[in-house]
Amino acid sequence: MLGGAVEFVVAAVCALVFGTFAEYFIHRSMHWGILHPEGHRHHHEANEARNYLRDFVDYGTGAVVLGWFGFLYSITSGFGWAFGGLVYAALASYSHQIQHANADLVFWMKRPVHRLHHNLDMREHNFGILVDWWDRLFGTYRPVEYLREARRYTVRDFLAIPWR
Ligand SMILES: [Zn+2]
Ligand SMILES: [Zn+2]
Repeated sequence: MLGGAVEFVVAAVCALVFGTFAEYFIHRSMHWGILHPEGHRHHHEANEARNYLRDFVDYGTGAVVLGWFGFLYSITSGFGWAFGGLVYAALASYSHQIQHANADLVFWMKRPVHRLHHNLDMREHNFGILVDWWDRLFGTYRPVEYLREARRYTVRDFLAIPWR
């Protein structure tokens, strides 16, 4: 029984990590002009992030397209991987929204790379949205100074994004 639970968790974590890699690669290919270049240019020009639900549909579509991979291995891995993909889509959508709404709240990264990507209209740096790992690994990380406001935030601040 424990074996099954461990397998589920491992598959879910793998999907999460894979999701962050896909996010990096897909965002980068938008700047290469391969995937949705027009829509993404508009996102940069408008500097506006629509809402959580629409992001979740976008990220979730990716999760559904790639979400069956785990079943090639086993039923347990299949459900674990699919679950991890959905968790990834939920977290990435939140990370995207909060970096547009109030990047000071992005406590899980040294710098809110997506905010910097937009502020400085970067075309070749800081493609990460949920994490900055892949930028660091592939040499596209640009550590621009980012000062957070020194104040206390409440749960309400963290929830202040356009949900739908
Ligand atoms: Zn971009
Ligand atoms: Zn954005």
